[in-house]
Amino acid sequence: MFARQVYYVARVLRDQWKSTAELRDLQAKRIRKILRYAYENTELYHRKLREAHLTPADFETLDDITKFPTVTKSEIRNAFPHGVVSREYSVDQCYRAVTSGSTGEVLDLVYSPSAYEFQMAATYRNFAALGYNPWHKLGYVRYEPIHGGTPSYERLGIVRKLFIPVTLPADQQIAMVRQFNPHAITGYPSIMIEWAKRMEQEGTCIHPLFVRAEAEILTKSAKTYMESVFGCPLYEEYGSIEFVSLAFECAERNHHISADNVFLEFLKEGEPVAPGEEGEIYATSLVNEAMPFIRYSLNDRGVPLEDTCSCGRGLPLMKLVVGRDDDFLVLPSGKRISPRLVIPLFELASEIQEFQVIQKKKDLIQVDFVPCAHFTREWGMNIEEEFRAVLGEPVDIVLNECQELPRGRHNRPRPVRSLVGQQ
Ligand SMILES: [Zn+2]
Repeated sequence: MFARQVYYVARVLRDQWKSTAELRDLQAKRIRKILRYAYENTELYHRKLREAHLTPADFETLDDITKFPTVTKSEIRNAFPHGVVSREYSVDQCYRAVTSGSTGEVLDLVYSPSAYEFQMAATYRNFAALGYNPWHKLGYVRYEPIHGGTPSYERLGIVRKLFIPVTLPADQQIAMVRQFNPHAITGYPSIMIEWAKRMEQEGTCIHPLFVRAEAEILTKSAKTYMESVFGCPLYEEYGSIEFVSLAFECAERNHHISADNVFLEFLKEGEPVAPGEEGEIYATSLVNEAMPFIRYSLNDRGVPLEDTCSCGRGLPLMKLVVGRDDDFLVLPSGKRISPRLVIPLFELASEIQEFQVIQKKKDLIQVDFVPCAHFTREWGMNIEEEFRAVLGEPVDIVLNECQELPRGRHNRPRPVRSLVGQQ
C-alpha cells in the first residue's frame, strides 16, 4: 500500500492550493458519493434518511446538506457495528480505534484502509506546512501507537516516529524524548507543560524545530511558556479520532480546515452561522465509507472565517473557540467565565503538580490540587485573590489539598468542570 500512500500525499499536497470554489466542488462530489453509499450500505443512515423523507438524490449542491439529519455520538455508538459499519466491510478488514471518552462514552471506530491512508496523508501535510520533511523524526504522545506497526519506509529513515504513551510518568516520557531527539513533537498541552516545567528546573531542555499541541485548550500563557522553554514555535492542531485531521495551523498562524478530508458546518440552533460568528461544529467525513459520519456533532464550538491566508492555501479558515471537555463557569449574575481565563491561573504554577477547578454551586467553586515542595500558604492566598479578580463577583472559593486527582482524558485531570451550568 506504499504506492497508494505516496499517491495520497501527492494529492493532498496539491489539493491544499486549490481555490475555494474548486474545493467546494470537490466536497459536494464526495458528499454526494458518501450519502448514497451510506444510504445503501448502513442501516442507521438508511433509516435516518427515510424518517426525514429524504433520499441521496435530494443532495444537489453543498447548501442542501442542511436538509439532512444530524447524528450524535450515542446514536453511532448504539448502532455499532452492524448498524453503522458498511455491510461491504468486515471490522477485521479495517483499521480500528477507540475514542478516549472522559465520561465513559467510549466509541469504537473503524476506517477503511484507503480512508486511513488518506487521513495519514492529510496529517503529513499538516506537519509539512510547518517545515517537517520526510527525513525528520517525530515524537507523538498518545494512549495507543498509530496503527500498522513500523512500516518498511520508517526502517529506511523516512518519517520515523516515536510513540510516547500518556500513561507513563513524566520523567520516563522525558527520557524517551531526550534519547530519540525528535525534530518535531505533537502532544497534549497539559503533558508538555509538565515536561517544560521539569526541564526548566533541571536546566536541560530539548530544542525541536517545532512543537504541536492538540486536543486540549492551549492558553496564551502556556504557549508562550513552552515556546520559551523549548526554544521553538508551538502550533495548534484541531483533530479528533473520528476524522483524524479537522484543521491545522500553518506557519502564518491561521487555522485551515482539512476541507478535502472533512466538511465542517458551524451551526446555531440548526442553522449555519455567518462568517465570523460562533457556532457548534458538525463534521462529515469525505473519505471513510467503511463507517460513515454524516453531520456528526463534535461538541466543539468554533468560528468559520471568510478571510484568505497569506500562505496562499485555498483551504478555508476557522477559529476554535473552546474544546469539548471544559465547561464554562456560570456565576450568580449569569455571567459566563471561559475556562481559558481560569486555566492560566494554575497551569504554570511551580507550587502545584496538578489541579482541577470544580464549580459545585453557582456561588461555590472548589479548587482541588496536589501540592509540590514549593507550595506555601501565601501562594494559596494570592491565587485565591487573583481568581476572585477574574470572576469579578462574590463567589466562595475553597482550596482543597489532595493526594491525587481523578484522571480524565489523556491521563490528566480535567482542568475545569461545572456541576451547575453547562454550555
Ligand atoms: Zn495559511
